[in-house]
Amino acid sequence: MRHCKNNFNIFTFLPPIVHNALTNIGSPEPSSLARSIIDVAKDYGKKTAAFYSWEQFRNLSAPGSLDHSHFINSGSTENFDLEAALVATGYLNFCCPDFCFIYLKGTDIAGHRSGSMSAEYLDAIETADTARGIILNEPI
Ligand SMILES: [Zn+2]
Repeated sequence: MRHCKNNFNIFTFLPPIVHNALTNIGSPEPSSLARSIIDVAKDYGKKTAAFYSWEQFRNLSAPGSLDHSHFINSGSTENFDLEAALVATGYLNFCCPDFCFIYLKGTDIAGHRSGSMSAEYLDAIETADTARGIILNEPI
């Protein structure tokens, strides 16, 4: 249950002792130094977007840093990777953001529920790959 902390590591390029998002709860209290890559992109006038199905990701950028976001509540039980890919693709094809974050949660859900390398997990990887193909406009 270190997802939130690890995601802050990735998005801020800072260690936990500096960004201060130390728990996996929905309301971390990151330090003012915790400017994420989304915040920095916005600082430079870039158009930003995020598509995700794990609500804690709303904390990965400061209010005002996202031009567009779309949240599908998976409840950490349902795989909405294809829906997220379709919604994101619809946006990407018409709105052309400079930075876009798309989170596909299906493999995480399957891994927690059935274990890594389980049949459900491998199916989720295939679904995520299909979603990736949709996003990249590859023929199915
Ligand atoms: Zn997980």
